[in-house]
Amino acid sequence: MTILIIEDEELLSESLRELLSQRGFATEAAFDGPTGLEYALTGLYDLIVLDVMLPGFDGFELARRLRSKRVGTPILMLTARSGLDDRVEGMDAGADYYLAKPFEARELLACVNAMLRRQGAQVDELRFGDAALDLASAELVRADRRIRLSAREFELARCLFAAGGRIVSKETLLVKVWGWESEAVENNVEVYVGFLRRKLAALGSAVKIKAQRSLGYRLEAE
Ligand code: CA
Repeated sequence: MTILIIEDEELLSESLRELLSQRGFATEAAFDGPTGLEYALTGLYDLIVLDVMLPGFDGFELARRLRSKRVGTPILMLTARSGLDDRVEGMDAGADYYLAKPFEARELLACVNAMLRRQGAQVDELRFGDAALDLASAELVRADRRIRLSAREFELARCLFAAGGRIVSKETLLVKVWGWESEAVENNVEVYVGFLRRKLAALGSAVKIKAQRSLGYRLEAE
């Protein structure tokens, strides 16, 4: 789970990152509107914490631009102002949840958890061909057979299943599965793709993970 924090107050940004990483989330930070938008447009994040008042352009504008590009990452909007107009504008711009500053750490964590749970509740299984990925139990499923995945195998499978047959680049997999700051290399991706292939085969699934030369990987159902 990776959370993007777009907040220009560096101390607040730093404490949010610390708080979230203590809870096991990976975080990335951007400190102004344009950079935040550039990061957010990659679609690599599970959630965006977005401040309203930002240099460049504000959080409302950022949310609008993001939604106009059809990036649906959930947005938790932060603002110093708690007026109804701001809240309405935030929701109109595409924010999913709104938290007025100052807030307590546990309030923010409760929001983040609720938003991520809601996402998870909508999709508890990703299907492709004759196989499915059970998001609650982290198991790979085919008919009545199930196989447990390790944390990395699960994240890798989640990226591939979510892409539904489209190519996922090795860089995207490295960032989503290993994180920005990791020193993992493409070879790690290949090794874990190998593990997943073996598990699909062990289930007798017809789903294959195809390597697309230098581009990346995609699922294929025969
Ligand atoms: Ca600000």
